[in-house]
Formats: sequence, structure tokens, C-alpha cells
Amino acid sequence: MRSFKAIRVDKNSQGYEADYVEMSDSALMDGDVDVDVLYSAINYKDGLAVTGKGPVVRRFPMVPGVDLVGRVTGTGRPDFAVGDLVVATGCGVGEAHFGGFAQRARLSGDWLVKLPEPLTPARAMTVGTAGLTAMFCVLALERHGLKPADGLAVVSGASGGVGSFAVALLARAGWRVAAITGHAAEADYLKSIGAAEVLARDAFSAPGKALQAQLFAAGVDTVGGVTLANLLSQTQFDGAVAACGNVGGMDLPASVAPFILRGVALLGVESVRPRIELRRAAWARIAADLDTAIIDAMCEIIPFDQALERARSIVSGKVRGRVVIEMP
Ligand code: NDP
Repeated sequence: MRSFKAIRVDKNSQGYEADYVEMSDSALMDGDVDVDVLYSAINYKDGLAVTGKGPVVRRFPMVPGVDLVGRVTGTGRPDFAVGDLVVATGCGVGEAHFGGFAQRARLSGDWLVKLPEPLTPARAMTVGTAGLTAMFCVLALERHGLKPADGLAVVSGASGGVGSFAVALLARAGWRVAAITGHAAEADYLKSIGAAEVLARDAFSAPGKALQAQLFAAGVDTVGGVTLANLLSQTQFDGAVAACGNVGGMDLPASVAPFILRGVALLGVESVRPRIELRRAAWARIAADLDTAIIDAMCEIIPFDQALERARSIVSGKVRGRVVIEMP
């Protein structure tokens, strides 16, 4: 029986607590693939999980960490071999099933994607759920038939995790990208990852007319609310917006005019459920397309003993880029 270090959250009569603990393999939850975790990453959801500030954890005790990359140490499946490098994102990992904030994990092979070359484990964690969600958005726009020759692509919340990857992936696919940001100081950073234009967030955050000037052929929206309504109103005939986030609001104060008068499409994107074929396609495309220098520019690697403190801090302020946890 092996013992290993983990972060465990629990809710009991003493309240909500998160701490480093020593666990053994026998405490792991059911699964058919065992891995030594090499890296995890800190997502906003993990911040909510360790602080209890949002209902992320669905059973207690829980090992948080919605993203992990590891090396297979044991497998009951023919499609994985000992020594394989695998990546898991979402699928309830770190919410309903012990996740990546541990040296060991036991997972369903249905949630795992073999790490496609030339991605390294640390780069895969830099990408993580944020990059995968951005890739899902780009794939949704492409499935809709949109292509760079159609016009300008817009990304809201551009300096955030999902937004940054969306800018980089769209630019890499040949799109001219307009990046919307509330942080003017991030303009140079956004241009360095592929934005052709940087637009001020304020211009999109007040309610506008149902139909506005047709500025964009395609959009990736991480904000929701009035921003998404304005992007729909500014999307050209037969264009589409892939919506994946709600940092600006859960509501959608929009009219049907863009849909029925311009044929605009609103494409919903979610990244948590295990749709393994789509995941494999998305990871393969990320590995093939994303410039490693851009990935590295977004990455800060921290040791595991700083992970709990950093996960707590993500909910109280913006953490720029992606914080990747290296396991001892
Ligand atoms: P981040 O916190 O990294 O980035 C969010 C960005 O949005 C900020 O950097 C900021 O960018 C902008 N922003 C913040 N507050 C506001 C506001 N009030 N109004 C307008 N813009 C704002 O988050 P992520 O990129 O990780 O996630 C973005 C969204 O996507 C979240 O809502 C998250 O829950 C969601 N998400 C959804 C997934 C799915 O499966 N559908 C998966 C992963 C994330 P700037 O300063 O450049 O404007």
C-alpha cells in the first residue's frame, strides 16, 4: 500500500476545512486507471472548492483539482498502458471524484486523453480546462462553417484564462482577432499572443440596440450578460458567437432580432461532461497549433506546498495567467 500527500477538503460540525494530509491508495475512489500525478493547475473552481465559497464540491471529503496530468502506474483497460502520460480535465474530477491536488489519482479511463506530442505535462496543465474550453469554442465556430475569410473574430474577457487561449487559437487558425478587455495595460500582452485589435470593455457593457453595426463574423464570449447581448447585435449575417462564460452575468438581456433578421447563431459551449472523442480532437488540435512560447508566457509553476494558499487567493483577486502545480 502506497501513501501519498494530498489536499483534502471536508465539511463537518467544525465548519469547512482544507488542509494537507497523508493518504493511502486504499482511500482512493473507484476507477480503472491509476496515475502518479505530475502536475495540476489552479482554476477558479478549485479556489471555490478549498474555500467553500461556492458549491463546487459535491461530496465530502474531497481532493480538489479539476485538472491533472500524470503517468499511468496501473490499468485495467486495454487502451492505456503503464507509463502512458495522460491528462484529465473536468468530468467531475475535483468535484465529485478525487482530483489533481494529490500525488496519486485513480480515475475512469473514459475521462483520460493520452498526452499528444509535442505537449509536455507542464504545458498541458498550463492549457488545462481554460485552453480546452477555448478550443471547444473555436471548434464550435468551425463546425458552424465559419472561416477567417468571413471577417473579424471577437473575444471578450480576453486577458482571462479562456479568453487568452481563444485569442491565441483563433489567431493561429488565421483569424484577425479583436480582443475585448477591461485591462488597458494588457494590450501589449494581447497583441503578443495574436490580437490584431484591442477594444475597451466599457464599449460593450452598456445595453445597446437590438441590431447594431455588423462588426464581427465570429465571437467567443466568456462574459455573458449585456456583453453577450451586444456581441450578438454586432454579429454579421450568418455569423455565430460561442458562449462559454458568465463573469459579467448569468442573464442574457437580448432580443431575438439578430437570430431572426440576420441568421446569427448562439453556440453554447461546456467543457465538463466527458465527451471523449471531442476531447481527443481538441487536445490534438491544441498540441498541433499552440505556440509553446505563448503557452510558456502564460505559465507560473509553483511547488505543491504553495498550492493551498494560492488556490485560496484566486477567489479574492485576479491571478494572471495559469498557475501550474508541480508535484513532489
Ligand atoms: P478568468 O478570471 O481568468 O478571466 C475572466 C476575464 O473576464 C477577466 O480576466 C476579465 O478580462 C474579464 N472580466 C472579469 N470580470 C468582468 C466583468 N464583470 N465584466 C466583463 N468582463 C469581465 O476566468 P476564465 O477565463 O477561467 O473563465 C471565464 C469564464 O468562463 C468564467 O465565467 C468561467 O466560469 C467560464 N468557464 C466555463 C467553462 C465551460 O465549461 N463553459 C469552462 C471554463 C471556464 P479582461 O480584463 O480582459 O476584460
